[in-house]
Amino acid sequence: MFAEDFQERPYWWDAAEPALREAALPATCDVAIVGGGYTGLSAAITLARLGRQVVVLDAERIGWGASSRNGGMVSGTPKPSLAELTARFGAETAMAISQAITQAFPFLEELIAREGIDCDYVRCGRFVTAWGPGSYRRLEAGVDAVVARTGFSARMLPCDRQREALGTDFYHGGMLTDAVGSLHPGKLARGLAQVAEQAGVTLVDRTRVDGISPGYTLATSRGPLAARQVLVATNGYSTMPDGTQALPFLARRMVPVASFIIATEPLSYGLIDRLFPGRRMITETRRVTNYYRPSPDGTRVLWGGRASFGRTTAREAAPTLYHRMLSVFPELEDIRISHAWLGNVSFSFDFVPHLGVKDGVHYAAGCQGSGVAVMSWLGHNAALKMAGAANAPFALDGLHFPTAPLYRGDPSVVLPAIGSWFRLRDWIDRFA
Ligand SMILES: Cc1cc2nc3c(=O)[nH]c(=O)nc-3n(C[C@H](O)[C@H](O)[C@H](O)COP(=O)(O)OP(=O)(O)OC[C@H]3O[C@@H](n4cnc5c(N)ncnc54)[C@H](O)[C@@H]3O)c2cc1C
Repeated sequence: MFAEDFQERPYWWDAAEPALREAALPATCDVAIVGGGYTGLSAAITLARLGRQVVVLDAERIGWGASSRNGGMVSGTPKPSLAELTARFGAETAMAISQAITQAFPFLEELIAREGIDCDYVRCGRFVTAWGPGSYRRLEAGVDAVVARTGFSARMLPCDRQREALGTDFYHGGMLTDAVGSLHPGKLARGLAQVAEQAGVTLVDRTRVDGISPGYTLATSRGPLAARQVLVATNGYSTMPDGTQALPFLARRMVPVASFIIATEPLSYGLIDRLFPGRRMITETRRVTNYYRPSPDGTRVLWGGRASFGRTTAREAAPTLYHRMLSVFPELEDIRISHAWLGNVSFSFDFVPHLGVKDGVHYAAGCQGSGVAVMSWLGHNAALKMAGAANAPFALDGLHFPTAPLYRGDPSVVLPAIGSWFRLRDWIDRFA
């Protein structure tokens, strides 16, 4: 199934590999930002435009994390439903949280347009496939709420019409929603970095932050950096592979989960339009979920999903994704895989993104698997708050931020059990 020139690295890096930078580490700055993904870069742009001298540090390259590895699906959809949020936070706060997350989608659209970022952005819509008949009924019950929340249209496609949106009979129909776009994530990361540099931000790569002292001096692998303010924007890498935690408080509240993607070789002319009429983004209601799409140039299928809940390489996980792809698109059986890669998303224990302050250090994290728009928006709001420029309260700011007893940032002991439970539930839901 692997092409001769198969590469275990993001397909996106063929066109937009995170660049190496030469900037030296300054001794001081107004604001130091730890993490050079969408969160950190978006915050840096806003702070620089408000006159702050900003340094962004990344242990790897700027944009190396999830921000240059993701599926490129742009949405502002809260993970918990409004009913779940209401049960947890009460009606007023729940509505405010839901609205705050929904605002991420127009924010990113506007940012891309305003800054002229060349990232293949298209507002293409999404088809949310129903895994079973019960999932279809639940989607149908929520259509009006999606329309009310987003202000965009949404409608159901039953089984016998699903080929209008997707070239398969595999699902039980699904929901079409227009408040979703697609882009090239590597180009977005590169574009944000360029905008930040043009705004005067110093981007320092290959510089690990090992700790932050109470006076806001960062201990880094290249020496100290004294800052007036610090923002930690490390999301799914709040515990780095070597165990480094810039802000242990945050790491103890983030559950990093690997997400895997494969890219096919270029397909024959016309096949993409048969598989993806309308070229929408595709997601599933099943718990061990898949998400997939055509590549921006319309030549390949990019198929992502939770291929493993254990420690697995992208190459080891690729056959699982490949066979799931064939079960939906059997006509791809002669097509080989050109790329496979993985990256970390991050869940909080309450499935809500968080912005806050711990001992004077600001943080913004918790994408819940979907952060292209949401984390850019969170970074912007963190920046407004830090600069004292926010003109309204932000509903995701300062919420109680739960952790679990004995949890220190490594979920590898419990994730396989959660994966087994999800697979069992999916098996039941396929027929229920
Ligand atoms: C495979 C995959 C598919 C996805 N698909 C989608 C999708 O289709 N749509 C969507 O909306 N979202 C998707 N996401 C989620 C989305 O990519 C993330 O929410 C988003 O990129 C998070 O941005 P970030 O800036 O917060 O974190 P990241 O981009 O992960 O950046 C964090 C950075 O912090 C750095 N760092 C960590 N610790 C330190 C330290 N101590 N010192 C210095 N630097 C440090 C890391 O090197 C890293 O570069 C996906 C994610 C993955 C992995």
